[in-house]
Amino acid sequence: MVSNKIPELMVPANNLKILKYAINYGADAVYVGGKKFNLRSIRGNFSLDELVEGVKYAHNKGVKVYFTLNSCIHENETDDLRDYIKDLKSIDLDGIIVADLGAIELIREIIPEARIHISTQASITNHHGVKIAEKLGASRVNLAREISFDDLKVIKNKSEVEIEVFVHGALCISYSGRCMLSKYMAGRDANKGECAHSCRWNYFLMEEQRSNLFFQIQQDKSGTYIYNSRDLCLLPELNKLIGAGIDSIKIEGRMKTESYVSLVTWVYRMALDYIAEGSFTGDKIDYLIHELDKASHRNFTKGFMFSAGNNELIDNENVGYIKKYTFVGTVVGGREEYGGTVIGVRNQFNKGSILDILQPRRKPQEYRVDKIIMASNGEEADVANPNDIVVIPGIVCLDPYSILRIKK
Ligand code: SF4
Repeated sequence: MVSNKIPELMVPANNLKILKYAINYGADAVYVGGKKFNLRSIRGNFSLDELVEGVKYAHNKGVKVYFTLNSCIHENETDDLRDYIKDLKSIDLDGIIVADLGAIELIREIIPEARIHISTQASITNHHGVKIAEKLGASRVNLAREISFDDLKVIKNKSEVEIEVFVHGALCISYSGRCMLSKYMAGRDANKGECAHSCRWNYFLMEEQRSNLFFQIQQDKSGTYIYNSRDLCLLPELNKLIGAGIDSIKIEGRMKTESYVSLVTWVYRMALDYIAEGSFTGDKIDYLIHELDKASHRNFTKGFMFSAGNNELIDNENVGYIKKYTFVGTVVGGREEYGGTVIGVRNQFNKGSILDILQPRRKPQEYRVDKIIMASNGEEADVANPNDIVVIPGIVCLDPYSILRIKK
């Protein structure tokens, strides 16, 4: 049976500020981590107080909050995990994302009413795995990224619980997160949220006796990034995923800025809205891919689900990040005396720069900067530098969640 149900759009948030951007750009749900037991532990994440505030903000806007607790739990951590789950009990979370069987057992014991979502880290690749998750009390499974679309359709048809898939963002070269490369090479455990991204490094060939002599294995002119996967982008395939009845589509990126999260959320929100009104045509897809290109990303792939053959390895002109736009600022208020919006500057721009401004539920618009006024003293400046607070006269009525960018 072909479905036309519009799935939930689930977006990452590394802190309270990004959570608010994600929600204002159209997320139906956000997923966040705490200070412990999740796979993005290096910086950011929510204290328990911030989590309470984030849940309150989200629920006021009708948006769900899922909490990520998906690291591998070792025996000596179980007491700490038990205490942490007790701390979560009083918070009105809409679901807890887990991969470890022991974590499921503890959540069932301490918060029996909690909705459990199985993380992609559990690497579920068939419907029997989904059935086991269901027996363990899970309400939803995020399938392994490494399955084909045909397998996805079979699994969805045979599953009672909700099915979620990643549609956008970085990929691992291993089964998602099940990788010891970073632990081995940098002493940082990816399964504890400390991945050093060793798969993105530039590798050389070295002969055993000549340890200071490196031979380049030429992948392209930038070097050899043999483990460096492209970024997933299933935007052009959303109609097929919706036809298969997927319940939730998920964006990767809990280390990303508000600029990245806002843009990707905006793009997928637009896509789902176009699909709902039956107008998600080739032109719209091209337009949205063009907008996605303004975020920093690697070359895109349709992943294991829709890619054919190994052309992506052969035809790989750019193995690093593609950065066509620079994130230059956000709105921090309005100052009528200067006749413009107040901008918190993140990266430098000049008088004469063309700002490309993204706003919730509107198409991006360009504005030329004819004048820059320093908000602190009202003096004119030719350049706006990082951490400056400036006013650009003439740019008024911007949404408070606007993202300002310039083309490189
Ligand atoms: S090193 Fe690369 S493949 Fe391994 S967990 Fe980190 S991002 Fe994934």
